[in-house]
Amino acid sequence: MTSRTPSAKYIDPLDHIWITAAHELGLTVARSPHGYAHTDGKGNLFLAPQEDLDHDDCLAQMILHELCHALVQGEDSFAKPDWGLSNDDRDEVYPDDITREWACLRVQASLLRPYGLRKLLAPTTDFRVFYDALPGRPLDGAEGREAKLSHDGLSLAHHPPYRRVLTDALLATAELHRAVAKASQRSQRGPASSATPLPLLWHSSPAPKLHKSGLPMSDGMHEAPDAATCAGCAFLLAPEKRTASYRCQRTATEDSAGKVVQPGSAACALFEPPLDCQTCAACCRHAFSLVPVRPSDEINWKHPQLVAKSGKDLTVIRDPERRCCAALGERDEHSFGCRIYHDRPRTCRDFTAGTRNCLEARRRVGLDA
Ligand code: SF4
Ligand code: SF4
Repeated sequence: MTSRTPSAKYIDPLDHIWITAAHELGLTVARSPHGYAHTDGKGNLFLAPQEDLDHDDCLAQMILHELCHALVQGEDSFAKPDWGLSNDDRDEVYPDDITREWACLRVQASLLRPYGLRKLLAPTTDFRVFYDALPGRPLDGAEGREAKLSHDGLSLAHHPPYRRVLTDALLATAELHRAVAKASQRSQRGPASSATPLPLLWHSSPAPKLHKSGLPMSDGMHEAPDAATCAGCAFLLAPEKRTASYRCQRTATEDSAGKVVQPGSAACALFEPPLDCQTCAACCRHAFSLVPVRPSDEINWKHPQLVAKSGKDLTVIRDPERRCCAALGERDEHSFGCRIYHDRPRTCRDFTAGTRNCLEARRRVGLDA
């Protein structure tokens, strides 16, 4: 018999997607028997060898989970061992680690939700109980420091370099999920694993059906509220002409006005009740940096102290400390209000809730995924 020298190495496709994502963000993934997962602050992420993990542990999920920790820990987390977490339950700062873990799980669930992957890539640690109990909108119910960490982490996920890398990896994961589901249907639930009598993770977390918009009908764990339809969703855009179509703004891009949907259709899992601009104010916060002012805008003579001039350009002054429009009042940490609402510039008047730009603003401040 002639011997053969392998010319390539096989890798699980899902692992490959997430190892590539980590690499694109500057992280090398390696196996190490010293603990479940840790980083050295020098660009290495060490994960336990397969033989030390549980049957449902998945390298892709572990990488995603660690990236969610990095997001919650902030922009300089890659330079700190273990992202800057203490990871020592004898340490007096450990309670803060737990708050950060909760925020990390809220970010993880939020990122997975739009792709119907919330169950497939759920964490497999003791915090799974917390994760499973999170509501349909995973940031709901967070308060104080946990809420701030969650929103800041999700906001960072929508900025470079994370945004493109995570979007690509999550899209590829969702496609693989659907491909495996189709193959399994053909082979009537697929082969049983010889190593364990447990069902395969792919089967216990099936790919959700898709809405006509292409969005998932389930986030993997939750569906839209009973009887909710596109008609009641904040992101349904009514046509300007009676003969034109209703469109879903969650699917709108720079090149497309969004998928055509029927208002009476059952809502997808990303259904959003009507938005309240006075508690949101995302577009006035750090989502967009400058609000242009026209010479004809009333703000020029009614509130001249709020207008900045640079050559011929006029803009509303920013509050650098609060990273928001200087005209924005803050009633409390969850409620905002424009102090010059009736005299606001045309740019603000033209900005409409429920549009693609609104969604973009909400993503940038960590209100949406
Ligand atoms: S996001 Fe809203 S409008 Fe779009 S498909 Fe889902 S329920 Fe319908
Ligand atoms: S328009 Fe959208 S982003 Fe702006 S305050 Fe209203 S809901 Fe928030």
